[in-house]
Amino acid sequence: MPAVRSGDSLQSRSATRSKDAPNKNLPSPPELLKYFPIYEILICTACRHAIKPGGVARHLKDIHRLQNEQRRPYTLYASNFALKAPEDVSSPPDNEFPMPYLPLEQGWRCRAPGCDYLCASIKRMETHWPSKHGSKGNPSHDWTPAPLQTFFRGNSLRYFTTDGPNQLKPSSQSLPNASGCIQKMRHSYRLDAVDSLMLEHYFYSSYKSFSKRNQTEKVWLNVVADLASCHQFLIHGILACTALHMAHIYPLQRELYVLRAYTHQDTALPLFRGELEHPTPQNCDAIMAFAYLLVVFSFATELDNGQNSLLLINDTADGPKENKFILPQWLHFIRVGCEMLDQVWEQIERGPASALADAWEIELDVGDSKIPYLEKFMCFIPEDGSWSEKVISVYRDGASILADAFAYMKSETIKPDVSTWNILGLWCVRLDNEFYDLIFVRHPGALILLAWYCVIMKRMELCWYFGGRPARLIASITDALDTRWHPCIKDAADQILGS
Ligand SMILES: [Zn+2]
Ligand SMILES: [Zn+2]
Repeated sequence: MPAVRSGDSLQSRSATRSKDAPNKNLPSPPELLKYFPIYEILICTACRHAIKPGGVARHLKDIHRLQNEQRRPYTLYASNFALKAPEDVSSPPDNEFPMPYLPLEQGWRCRAPGCDYLCASIKRMETHWPSKHGSKGNPSHDWTPAPLQTFFRGNSLRYFTTDGPNQLKPSSQSLPNASGCIQKMRHSYRLDAVDSLMLEHYFYSSYKSFSKRNQTEKVWLNVVADLASCHQFLIHGILACTALHMAHIYPLQRELYVLRAYTHQDTALPLFRGELEHPTPQNCDAIMAFAYLLVVFSFATELDNGQNSLLLINDTADGPKENKFILPQWLHFIRVGCEMLDQVWEQIERGPASALADAWEIELDVGDSKIPYLEKFMCFIPEDGSWSEKVISVYRDGASILADAFAYMKSETIKPDVSTWNILGLWCVRLDNEFYDLIFVRHPGALILLAWYCVIMKRMELCWYFGGRPARLIASITDALDTRWHPCIKDAADQILGS
């Protein structure tokens, strides 16, 4: 997106330009004017609406006050494109809504059978009903909130909206009363039109993307829907993660959805922390479900802002020594929050969300099959005595857990349904605090094991919120490690980078 957003700012920039020098602040023609061949329209990204055919020069002159000379590159560029008259432009299909560069407005849609009327104000709807349908109309069922956009403004303004993500066919497991459920939540949480759209997306698609296991898929669909209707923090957590999922699927609308995601997460977190301090049989399942969403949110946003936290440790923390590193929220929850759920843990294990609790606690019965892995990891300990006894002991524990994980994954290779949470549960969740201390100080032993753990994490790579992470992580580990250790991680790197 160009930096210039309104006609005014573009105008003032061009007004202050020196007469001869080309104005560097002006967006280039392709930045200012976006062509959409499917609709045959040209959108002015500064004004955020489409320009009528034959109207480009006039638009640049009247709205942006560009001189003849300045206009030339833009008109030349625009002359490449065939443009349709406003009345001939068709509305975008559901999967292209909302269109990028156009503002999204909250509006209303008439629900009378066969009537497609859309408007931006309730007053207009109140006039529409008597004039078109002969009665006053009942606000509770005769119209409904709808997200609106329009290509053109002025006389050619014509709103369009979406029927929701219909292109995503509900799966066989789909909630039988999804629309009733959406309606209820929309009402009780006063969701606006975009949030309602996202909630629909959750029920048709996003819930499946949080899990690969059938068992947990059902939980995300049925149980979580139920829980979210009585726990506000959970609905905001769901909307935050769904917004990130949509940002991933619809990159042109990324900004809009990412902003929504942060807003929902900011609302959810204080509520979640409050509930976590007082776990009860009523809220414990919702807390468990939210903890899962924390993982999705943390991973997806970390990918989004290109943070490099070596997966487990945020580097930026400075402060008192006892707080010298900060675990990511999700990991902090598993290590500390789970203890807070101690009194209600049995309740969770017997309850509707038990499949979620199980995933953290896989039984690893790998027997002797771990030995070759453990032997390999133990060979990395240098013989020159440069690692203290204490460090070696912490390293051995970490290596032993990782060897279990490798043996387990090997036995599971034919099963494609190992979930994100299983994989996190295999190692990061089981490690001692001392091991995290070693990662924090970039101890070579800890980094070597972390590099090998990337091989296991590669199994999660197809997850939308995880993509590319193992390769990036191993690259930063390679940077952090002195070259003398590189032979210890070479095989791991080869497996991850596929060479
Ligand atoms: Zn404009
Ligand atoms: Zn109507």
